Amino acid sequence: MLIDTHCHLDAPEFDADRDAVFARARAAGVAKIVVPAVSMPTMAGTLAMRTRYGCAVALGLHPIYERTHRDADLAALRTLIETERPVAVGEIGLDFFVEGLDAARQTEIFAAQLKLARDFDLPVLLHVRKSQDQVLKQLRRFGLRRGIAHAFNGSRQQADAYLELGFKLGFGGNLTFERALNIRRLATELPLEAIVLETDAPDIAPSWAYRQRNEPAELARIAEVLAGLRGIPPEALVTASGHNARAILELDVTSD
Ligand code: ZN
Repeated sequence: MLIDTHCHLDAPEFDADRDAVFARARAAGVAKIVVPAVSMPTMAGTLAMRTRYGCAVALGLHPIYERTHRDADLAALRTLIETERPVAVGEIGLDFFVEGLDAARQTEIFAAQLKLARDFDLPVLLHVRKSQDQVLKQLRRFGLRRGIAHAFNGSRQQADAYLELGFKLGFGGNLTFERALNIRRLATELPLEAIVLETDAPDIAPSWAYRQRNEPAELARIAEVLAGLRGIPPEALVTASGHNARAILELDVTSD
């Protein structure tokens, strides 16, 4: 089953033609789309993806919007998680790549949300940039054992550390680029049990749509590329990665 475990279908980039984008994803065989929230002001829009398209939603405060998050947002997030029952806490994490972000504040917000995930026994959807070891440290600190490191681009050793904790690693459009040697090697050599698929649409467009708006329908072709790299039939990859996604996020997906 094709599951896009990370797609910002609620992003303004899709405002003009969201119904068509969703219809194309369905036609391409995408059975479920997981939409992670990024900030409190946009969270109603994230939740609307569940009612309108049957998406699974994650609720959380994204690290790159660190400056706009307020302490009151964390309290509001707790209430929203309690009432809305998302499939995960996300998108949360640490971004030490983007310049000008406050690392201490990011860590504080991240830690508070890991605590929420622990309190509600929810998995986490992680944004990790130049921060693999710091993220792993926080996961261990809070004893979290379920989630996805999205758009994974760390070392094999770091990959194994996530897997040992019980996490899955998200792979998407990046692996379609021949120059993405590290990601291609990981996506090829890691056990199938480690892998979930994602588009991160509208970002991380695959090589054939370079610099264009990405969309969830591309997941089918991304899966074909990865299956080709691994030398297995696309159906085997789709089945295994879909199983992984459903298990980690406890998704309720009826196949049609
Ligand atoms: Zn994202």
